[in-house]
Amino acid sequence: MYRNTLHYAEKTKKACSNINPCFDMTVEFGIIGGSGFYSISSKGIEEKIETPYGNVLVNIFNINNKKVAFITRHGPKHSIPPHLVNYRANIFALHSIGVKQIITSSAVGSMKKEMAPGSFVIPDQFIDFTIGRPKTFFVDNFEVKLHNGTIRKGVVHIDLSEPYCPHLRNESIVQSKKIAKNTFSKGVYVCTEGPRFETPAEINAFKILGGSLVGMTSVSESILARELGICYSTICLVTNFAAGMQEKISAEEVFAVFKSKVHELEEIIVNTIANLDISAKNCSCDKL
Ligand SMILES: [Zn+2]
Repeated sequence: MYRNTLHYAEKTKKACSNINPCFDMTVEFGIIGGSGFYSISSKGIEEKIETPYGNVLVNIFNINNKKVAFITRHGPKHSIPPHLVNYRANIFALHSIGVKQIITSSAVGSMKKEMAPGSFVIPDQFIDFTIGRPKTFFVDNFEVKLHNGTIRKGVVHIDLSEPYCPHLRNESIVQSKKIAKNTFSKGVYVCTEGPRFETPAEINAFKILGGSLVGMTSVSESILARELGICYSTICLVTNFAAGMQEKISAEEVFAVFKSKVHELEEIIVNTIANLDISAKNCSCDKL
């Protein structure tokens, strides 16, 4: 038996049609909102999605007649630290209701002077320094049917030559530039385990390795989404300079900067989904 889509998709369809006929179809788009990105979650209908990794609360609503499911990465009250986020449950839940495209927000520190706090960066590469998080579905004889009909099982080595979907990235860049002049269309996201911030020595090392941004979340999601053949990209909001580049880093400062820019971030994500032309998709995120 596939621990997969059909059962959950059928269930969701039925549940949605009982609540509101406009939700009587598969949800194609997912948003995962990072730290401070909660306002959009009040727009829709809350659903609980069961997964083999635990239950996930999603909020389902429309953007330009497209069905969208929203998940708060750190929980509605920001109670889940980055190293304890149930990444597999979140990505599996979105896949199981039909989601083929996921766009997320990430708060990051900048290792580049030109990417000042308040900037938006759509990264094109990552370096993974996380430890101890489950980063694959393919254990314990896991099998999955992708949305393109392919069955994936056994030993799976996904290609991450383009770790973030180029199609999603391109549309995000277009929409971000319309809203924010300080948009950067490339960046190398270094993912640390957290929840602590980094040391200046670590940041110096990351710079030598080619890093431009440092965060604690987006990489696990990118890997897991690719394993299930889902397009994934993230829009990073720079909330601070990395350790050693400013006097001190505090969570309060991170949240304050995020709060001041969250409406722009929300607009970029909503406009990206509204304008995304799936028929023009030319990526290979659902291929090995
Ligand atoms: Zn893609």
